[in-house]
Amino acid sequence: MNLVFGPVPSRRLGRSLGVNNIPDKTCTYACVYCQIGSTLKMYAQRREFYAPEEIYQSVKSRVKGANIDYITFVPDGESTLDINLGKAAKMLKYLGKVAIITNSSLIYREDVRADLLNFDYVSLKLDAITPTIWKKVNRPYKELDLDKIREGMLEFRREFKGTLVTETMLIGEIDYGDELEKLAEFIAELKPDASYIAVPTRPPAEPWVHAPDESTIARAHALFSKYARAELLIGYEGTEFSTTGNFEQDIMSITAVHPMREDAVLALLYKCDEKREKLEKMIKEGKIIKVEYNGEWYYMRALPSRKNMVRE
Ligand code: SF4
Repeated sequence: MNLVFGPVPSRRLGRSLGVNNIPDKTCTYACVYCQIGSTLKMYAQRREFYAPEEIYQSVKSRVKGANIDYITFVPDGESTLDINLGKAAKMLKYLGKVAIITNSSLIYREDVRADLLNFDYVSLKLDAITPTIWKKVNRPYKELDLDKIREGMLEFRREFKGTLVTETMLIGEIDYGDELEKLAEFIAELKPDASYIAVPTRPPAEPWVHAPDESTIARAHALFSKYARAELLIGYEGTEFSTTGNFEQDIMSITAVHPMREDAVLALLYKCDEKREKLEKMIKEGKIIKVEYNGEWYYMRALPSRKNMVRE
């Protein structure tokens, strides 16, 4: 597995060089909307996956001459399960600004908060306040406790001096009732630098997951805006994916984490001076899969966690 991918265009982070520090798919959650597919290994104990030196060398070989805004931990699972996270972040800071996307589930642990302090930008998942909604949307590991997670987020806010944002994924299958008001109250307490609202835009782990109606999105935006800079993450990030010149290598490493829409894949083929037959061959060989969602085709690495996503 490639430890580094991109840079990819990110709606929040500009040009982001991705670090995939967790093997497919190891997570504390099994979110119904996950774009990496089903959780294959679920636990909440931190452990060692890759040596920080190996991550550092992989990033170093890719940052040279590249136009990068952030080096971002955004893996095939939950980034803070990596027990060497803090050490890797400290090393990578010599190469650029470091960001992390986490589902927040382990932030109640002091060692996880200490590791996160090494980052310049931390994005915390905040999908629910009510345990029943949390269990329906995020399907957490059984030993996790939402109250402790919220306390950990507030504790981290007090210690952290970098950019802290929240990300809330809304789905159409949940009756949010007064949940959006509760989320806004928590945002008021947390005081993030920005509060992002997302909806599923790429093929989800569960085929029945869809975006909520516009009134739910607008209500969340109006409520969150009272207490933070609220932004919608519902636009397309574009087709500006960087290439190493090797199409197969690029598509395999990027789409392990980040499914690509057909127009972006075609743009990458063109940049690498490859023909469409190359793509068809990779599908035939079982290296990548093609999945339709909301009337668009997406291409992604054929990871074991995505076995159930092929619905043709
Ligand atoms: S969306 Fe993130 S937190 Fe949820 S299951 Fe997927 S990798 Fe884990």
